[in-house]
Amino acid sequence: MQLFDVYPLNDITITSARGSRVYDDKGQEYLDLYGGHAVISIGHTHPHYVERLTSQLNKVGFYSNSVKIPGQVELANLLGKVSGREDYQLFLCNSGAEANENALKLASFHNGRKKVVAFRKSFHGRTSLAVAATDNPAIVAPVNATADVTFLPFNDVEALEDFFAREGDKVSSVIIEGIQGVGGINVASEPFLQAIRRLCDQYDAIFVADSVQCGYGRTGKFYSHDHSGVSADIYSMAKGMGNGFPVAGISIAPKLHPKYGMLGTTFGGNHLACAAASAVLEVMAKDRLMEHAAGLGEYWMTELRKFPQIKEVRGKGLMIGLEFGEEWKDLRKNLLAKHRIFTGEAKPYVIRLLPALNLEKADADRFLEALQTEFSAKA
Ligand code: PLP
Repeated sequence: MQLFDVYPLNDITITSARGSRVYDDKGQEYLDLYGGHAVISIGHTHPHYVERLTSQLNKVGFYSNSVKIPGQVELANLLGKVSGREDYQLFLCNSGAEANENALKLASFHNGRKKVVAFRKSFHGRTSLAVAATDNPAIVAPVNATADVTFLPFNDVEALEDFFAREGDKVSSVIIEGIQGVGGINVASEPFLQAIRRLCDQYDAIFVADSVQCGYGRTGKFYSHDHSGVSADIYSMAKGMGNGFPVAGISIAPKLHPKYGMLGTTFGGNHLACAAASAVLEVMAKDRLMEHAAGLGEYWMTELRKFPQIKEVRGKGLMIGLEFGEEWKDLRKNLLAKHRIFTGEAKPYVIRLLPALNLEKADADRFLEALQTEFSAKA
């Protein structure tokens, strides 16, 4: 049987990893500034994480949501504290798309409406409604297309106000990434997020903060939307939540009420997933990783902005986008092949930095040196 060929692959096989380093089957070391797509939050094979998961696996790896799972309660308490949302409720699932799907569905159950407002260049996942709310027709199958999603321009308060004035009473939810990831590291402005809050309150719509990529402490606050000073009604999260273990969830405001059977999943919130997610939060709190991400991110962006070759440096904390012109189209490839540094990308010419939150300054500097070498070589 062949693999269904949907991923353009680097010809690299990673066989071990530690912290911000990964190693291939030939023993070559790489610096990981990509974190397997913003997933590695506390570093590869973190000892506390490995210990938590293996000891859980030796007790019980899985049982369904038909019995009490104390790890879920423990995780909810920890998450409430670390995210500053102790009055919110937690529903656990398995992936970012599923988290968004549940968030949009829950909003619709709550207000009985159908319309979703999303924004240009958004990415919310590949399941039915999540992909319909994603601004990329190439990945929306005809079966997913729905007229109930409206795309508005990102960071345009006036366009949002105009739309609400016309159709606000039909809007079920507004979904927005605090920083667009796949779209190229575009930061939602504070006035824009504040306007979403105000209009959702005015029209009884639900504010869904997609925190799948930008959340979980990556930007220096637990949810990147927190920089705006307003709260969303539902936060979706995944990626960094399990440091590689597939776990996701939504954090739900008290005004949304559960009903038996309204949401559900077989695997979501299983014993191992909860152990992984709690281990991440424990390390984040103990090692003050949000503060570290904020400080290192600020230093890194200041240094990166000194390179005239970079058209724009965008982001917050350790979610950084470097915008280049076409003349640097091979840069990311060279960083990997010559300097052994993994980075992310967004089309057409944005390099995305999404490292573990405990990345060391020396590693941030190694990236700056590699860039300098590449720029000098072409000067
Ligand atoms: N939302 C955002 C902002 C994402 O970046 C992603 C994945 O890249 C998703 C949702 C989908 O998450 P998953 O791939 O876990 O379904």
